[in-house]
Amino acid sequence: MTGREEWRIPICIAFVESHAMRNALGLMLASLVAAVMIAGVWYLTSAPRLDAAPPKTIAARPPEPLPPARAKLAEKDDVPATASLSKPLPAPPPAPVAQKPVCANPDALGVGRVVEIDTSGGPGFGFEHFKQLDFLEPKEVVLTFDDGPWPGNTPAVLKALEDECTKGLFFAIGKHATFHPEILRQVYAAGHTVGTHTWSHVNLNGKKMTEQMDKDEIEKGISGVKWALGGASPAPFFRFPELQHNPAMMTYLGTRNVAMFSTDLDSFDFRKNSSPEKVVTTVMTKLDKLGKGIILMHDFQKHTADALPTLLRRLKDGGYKVVQIRAKAPLTSLPEYDEAVAKDLKLPGANVSTRPVSSVVQTVSR
Ligand SMILES: [Zn+2]
Repeated sequence: MTGREEWRIPICIAFVESHAMRNALGLMLASLVAAVMIAGVWYLTSAPRLDAAPPKTIAARPPEPLPPARAKLAEKDDVPATASLSKPLPAPPPAPVAQKPVCANPDALGVGRVVEIDTSGGPGFGFEHFKQLDFLEPKEVVLTFDDGPWPGNTPAVLKALEDECTKGLFFAIGKHATFHPEILRQVYAAGHTVGTHTWSHVNLNGKKMTEQMDKDEIEKGISGVKWALGGASPAPFFRFPELQHNPAMMTYLGTRNVAMFSTDLDSFDFRKNSSPEKVVTTVMTKLDKLGKGIILMHDFQKHTADALPTLLRRLKDGGYKVVQIRAKAPLTSLPEYDEAVAKDLKLPGANVSTRPVSSVVQTVSR
């Protein structure tokens, strides 16, 4: 109580008492009135007020940035390539939700739009083979890079993309991913989308290939990329080597809910007589004619690595916008192919049976 209350309350009570002496009913009434007045005095002097200063609370802290999952993955680059698959590295936590990355280049090409693809049933993209799903608007392009990861060229491609604050879609070869997992992790850590491109880049339409061999190539490629990413799943995006679309495998990819990517325009960066200048000219000439498109390049090829800074500038100057492609859901690899990759890599524990002893060794006579 404050001193102010102490003198107010006795006065109120004395006032009520002088009238209450007359009869009992008056006494009861007076008590009630006194109680109400005491409550009133308390309310006026001590009760919390809506217009009073807010109560002290723990100061609101600005939201802390979520841990960069992809950066963490990159930090694990020193994980030896002999890490056992029998104890797979834990998958990284989900990437932070759409926080626009800081771009140091105010005139960067950037990303015009991010699209998410529902790969249920295995949709196909790229007008060279699939004409049903036309999702690009005029002046939009998708930057795709095949056959990596590869030392020198892939990091150069990453640098060019970073300088322009833009994103690409990489179709990695399983074997290359196991040769250079640290480079593929850099691709993933930089926020690019990583799809797959078979285990060893064989033509799935080749005469010597059986359906089982084709399937093995696709699935082992997926498992190889997953291993290289430290257990993170690749996107359910696939590109046939040499764009050789095998009908049976197209059906199979549909059952695996993997989208297939052909192309709208080929840079021909793999040709022997290609050059950085030719890559730029080929892409820009075709693009200006088509007005938009999925561009096929190779981060494996030095010509593309060298051409990319100029090409990205030309895209910017030409008013083109990059569309970043993401998958609605990741791709789950098949355990038998994870094991096949582990065996190929001679990872410790890869050949150790996981069956219980009793199912392997039975006493049949004593
Ligand atoms: Zn290829």
